[in-house]
Amino acid sequence: PYDVLVVGGGPAGAAAAIYAARKGIRTGVVADRFGGQVMDTVGIENFISVRATEGPKLAANLEQHVLDYDVDLMTAQQARKLSRKALVEIELENGAVLKSRSVILATGARWRELNVPGEQEYRGKGVAYCPHCDGPLFKGRKVAVIGGGNSGIEAAIDLAGIVEHVTVLEFGGELRADEVLQRKARSMTNIEIITSAQTTEVLGDGQRVSGLRYTDRNSGESRDIALAGIFVQIGLVPNTEWLKGDIELSRHGEIVVGSRGETSVPGVFAAGDVTTVPYKQIIISMGAGATAALGAFDYLIRESVD
Ligand code: FAD
Repeated sequence: PYDVLVVGGGPAGAAAAIYAARKGIRTGVVADRFGGQVMDTVGIENFISVRATEGPKLAANLEQHVLDYDVDLMTAQQARKLSRKALVEIELENGAVLKSRSVILATGARWRELNVPGEQEYRGKGVAYCPHCDGPLFKGRKVAVIGGGNSGIEAAIDLAGIVEHVTVLEFGGELRADEVLQRKARSMTNIEIITSAQTTEVLGDGQRVSGLRYTDRNSGESRDIALAGIFVQIGLVPNTEWLKGDIELSRHGEIVVGSRGETSVPGVFAAGDVTTVPYKQIIISMGAGATAALGAFDYLIRESVD
């Protein structure tokens, strides 16, 4: 069996694997796609000490760093079941079962998508999901934020300080964000809020986003807005469907973790976007991965008096 088995090969999983392997304990990583969300990212400018990089380049560096150590790296493998027996067992989609004295879950999350025409085509070409990451790319331009919940209104307030103008489109008749955020957004002169608006299409010129089309759900009319960017803020979905019932999840489906990354199951730790950590970023995921590996190591040295 492994001492530490990491499920997930994004920034959190990579950091956890390196920290575990550096303790000289038997470490494995099983990941569907090494690199995780980083593979879908074009420019990264907030990974501290690296002034600018690109997702696939950072993912390749992560993999090389992991492979500098004695780590069993198993990619293109999906975990489908966790069970706590004498050891923690992870069953894979191909039927194999991996056993480990401790497990670190780092299966990340995915942005909920609009599922409208143009979204995939212009992803990274004006369609964005992370205002902290991509906001500065739209400096002085017009953008829209889709979604009037807390993350949408926070994004609008954040972006309003950078871009020329922000249009918020909310599907429902009212915003769902906290009152204090709504008040702040309404006080900003370059934010316009449109409710009862169903986004139906991302418009582009073949190269980049040029606007969006929405239906006014009150009148049924279709309208176009000219824009340089569209921030989709309709939720982040943690990759925990396969863990339901076996580990404590928040009502948003995130794995509930303590300050050492521990979960409700002894010997099972978690890190990164899949957890209740409030901010989902590369540097934060890496720190959490390191924390979970140290937490697992502390657990192992206490558990093993055999
Ligand atoms: P992820 O990166 O999501 O990795 C999850 C890993 O788990 C993957 O290897 C995946 O294949 C694997 N996995 C999932 N389910 C299973 C399973 N059942 N079995 C096996 N493996 C599984 N953050 C920044 O700090 N700066 C940025 O500029 C930035 N830009 C972004 C741009 C985009 C378009 C996106 C989508 C995100 C961006 N982020 C950025 C956020 C950042 O990418 C995430 O916070 C970070 O990748 C989270 O790392 P993670 O390791 O927790 O999860």
